[in-house]
Amino acid sequence: MQPLPKEYNFAEIERKWQQKWEEMGIHRYDWNDQKRVPFSIDTPPPYPSGELHMGNVLNWTYFDMVARYKRMRGFNVLFPQGWDCHGLGIEIQVEKTHNVRKRDVPPDEFRKWCSETVEKYIALMKEGILKLGCSIDWTTEYRTMNPDYWRRTQLSFILLYQKGFMYQGTHPVNWCPRCETAIADAEVDYDKREGVLHYIRYPLEGSNEYLLIATSRPEFIPACVAVEVNPQDDRFTKYIGKKIVVPVFNRTVPIIGEETVDPAFGTGVVQICTYGDKEDVKTVMKHKLPVIMLLTENGRITENGGKYAGLTINQARAAIVQDLTEAGLLEKTEKITQEVGRCDRCKAHVEILERKQWFMKTRQMTEAVEKTANEVVWYPDYMKTRLIDWARSLDWDWVISRQRLFATPIPVWYCKNCGELILAEPEWVPIDPKLEGPRVDKCPKCGSQEFIGERDVFDTWMDSSITCAVHAGWPDRKDWRKRFPADMHPSGIDIIRTWAYYLMVRHLALFNETPYKSCLINGMVLGADGRKMSKSLKNYVAAPDVLNKNGADAARQWAAGGGATGSDIPFRAPDVEYGRRFLVKLWNVSGFTSKLLTDYQPGKTKNVKLQPLDKWIISKAENLTKKVTDAFEKCQFNIAVEDIRNFTWHVFCDAYVEAVKDRLYRPEVQGAEAKVAAQQTLYEVLYRILQLLAPVTPHLTEAIYQTLYADSKGYKSLHVSPWPEFNQAVTDEQAEKRGDLITALITEVRREKAEKRMSLNAQIKKLTVYAGDKETADIIAESSEDIVGTCKIASLEVLAKKGSGRQIAQFADVHFVAEYEGAAVEKT
Ligand SMILES: [Zn+2]
Ligand SMILES: [Zn+2]
Repeated sequence: MQPLPKEYNFAEIERKWQQKWEEMGIHRYDWNDQKRVPFSIDTPPPYPSGELHMGNVLNWTYFDMVARYKRMRGFNVLFPQGWDCHGLGIEIQVEKTHNVRKRDVPPDEFRKWCSETVEKYIALMKEGILKLGCSIDWTTEYRTMNPDYWRRTQLSFILLYQKGFMYQGTHPVNWCPRCETAIADAEVDYDKREGVLHYIRYPLEGSNEYLLIATSRPEFIPACVAVEVNPQDDRFTKYIGKKIVVPVFNRTVPIIGEETVDPAFGTGVVQICTYGDKEDVKTVMKHKLPVIMLLTENGRITENGGKYAGLTINQARAAIVQDLTEAGLLEKTEKITQEVGRCDRCKAHVEILERKQWFMKTRQMTEAVEKTANEVVWYPDYMKTRLIDWARSLDWDWVISRQRLFATPIPVWYCKNCGELILAEPEWVPIDPKLEGPRVDKCPKCGSQEFIGERDVFDTWMDSSITCAVHAGWPDRKDWRKRFPADMHPSGIDIIRTWAYYLMVRHLALFNETPYKSCLINGMVLGADGRKMSKSLKNYVAAPDVLNKNGADAARQWAAGGGATGSDIPFRAPDVEYGRRFLVKLWNVSGFTSKLLTDYQPGKTKNVKLQPLDKWIISKAENLTKKVTDAFEKCQFNIAVEDIRNFTWHVFCDAYVEAVKDRLYRPEVQGAEAKVAAQQTLYEVLYRILQLLAPVTPHLTEAIYQTLYADSKGYKSLHVSPWPEFNQAVTDEQAEKRGDLITALITEVRREKAEKRMSLNAQIKKLTVYAGDKETADIIAESSEDIVGTCKIASLEVLAKKGSGRQIAQFADVHFVAEYEGAAVEKT
């Protein structure tokens, strides 16, 4: 057997095995395998956004631990990787880099810049993912910006249109005036800010009276379509049905009664404008009020704003407030804290605009989403309520169209003459209706031969919300349902409301089936200061720095062990360094083992008689296997990694290896068979450690396996070796109890030497053990050779009676007295 190189060079080892695994093809999904059961992981394709960050390290370590564990469990694992290219962030980034607005550049030029930026970012992210050692099947790699992926997105739209899930409508939508596109509820972040409440006098028609209205958005006065009061509010019931004058504009609007008005808020009188907020939208719909569109798509006042037309929102507010003041209609102002919606990509204040959009009927699916979410297995379980609460909270259907450039085209045309909609046939896709006409001779309704291609494009989530089916091979592979629903959808806690939700509604609508059987949720990465890691907070740590400094296997231990699955995990450099020290320890003990095993022939020592300490650690390793397997099954990675590390460091290295050194070094004392028993136990227990640890630290475990085990075990990689099945018959409760006593006694003796600043090899002239009873004395006597050898004892006397002396931790009735060469030890 080859000894292991002395030095643990993680950079070399990790690079080497990443390359070899790729050459061996062990991460490939076998599409033709008829024997193994598939296990498909719905890897969420990320937005390419530049170098890997620690949040990505956490995500991909989770995905990869599941993939590696399942592969060892014998599954045909599908671990694909795609890139979600059409994020709004890319357009914003390109505008910044080239210092342009997208409308000022030829669209093709702009799209070219976008795809170049995407490729640059993909290269950076991919480098990081490779460096992390993820067992991805790179033959599956895809980009949603490629026409072959458009084909899938467009086909899914056509099918859902045919099933009645897609419609066009001029409903109000969230609108980012900076990005100039509609955005979905999920893309709106809310935060609090200081605002000003303006108390404005609205004169009653034909009277000298006025009603006082408090509003934080006086710039919307030009779009005021009604004033409402609570019909139970005695102060105002008499005005319901009357008309009131809109200040400055001098037109009248009705005063209506509406139960949802809170009499205690502001003055109890509310203006309805189109649209100041979502409440306005509800009231306008309920009372069928007219709509005055006040804002343009880039956030300026329209012609409907009269003299304020062309101003920005802020300019208009200032101008109107000034006009109100001059007209004596502004009674007072006061500061308030208000909640505002912001575009999650550019942070601009989100407005509500009405424009013809495409929608998917998602609200009608809320019950189905809730039912399905309850059937899915969630890790951890309580995360499912996030999805259910989100689905229930939605006011509007999902707006799936965007007014952007870099995105998948919507495959429809309109007849130029009669407006008839022409939907692409499934065979036509991928297709860009801006460049190509529909493949029909004439409009089926009016016979016209002129068509206008749809200019709107899909929301990027339309691309990425069909991955469970796409990964399975839909629509091209006949047997795609073999891999559908995905066995696991892993996702960050922050994207449950988008990814988990959109996947659910799209696949339910398309296939009437859940997209995933289980959902694994990871928390966010916090900085060392406990706040969410971010570049602006100066608590940001770049993943490449961490990987270069301590290696992937150390960083992965941080990700696995940093906290319970689903909880937020702080990044602590000492955790990574501890991971590295652990690996050095494991490397060193493996090197030591390999040296002691040069004359050992694995597999040829079947019936060797095991010593009590051998039985002890074999039983412990078996129980560890059970605990670690349970932990991986439940995706409790922190439990798995802690248990393995504790066992390896404290039980295997500190206790067992120390206790059998004498047997291995001096077979002439304890005999050849005792030596072989120790060799065999060392060999097999270390192998068990490597196997259990393989999903967490794949590189180092593989390097050790290849040197010490590949020949005798016969698997081309540790990562395709079968996961150890827990075997109850191997466990031995008695052996564990006995071994615990022996190792505790040895540890205590060594501790005494250390306290006395003596070498661990210092000779003990005589050790007298007071076992307390006969049974304990017999156990100690049975392992007397390991005790004598390890502690360097010239003479060991074990007495069944109680006695005084140094007490052994956890065994209060056992004491010992050691007499050292040259100096007697004072008795306690
Ligand atoms: Zn924006
Ligand atoms: Zn027509």
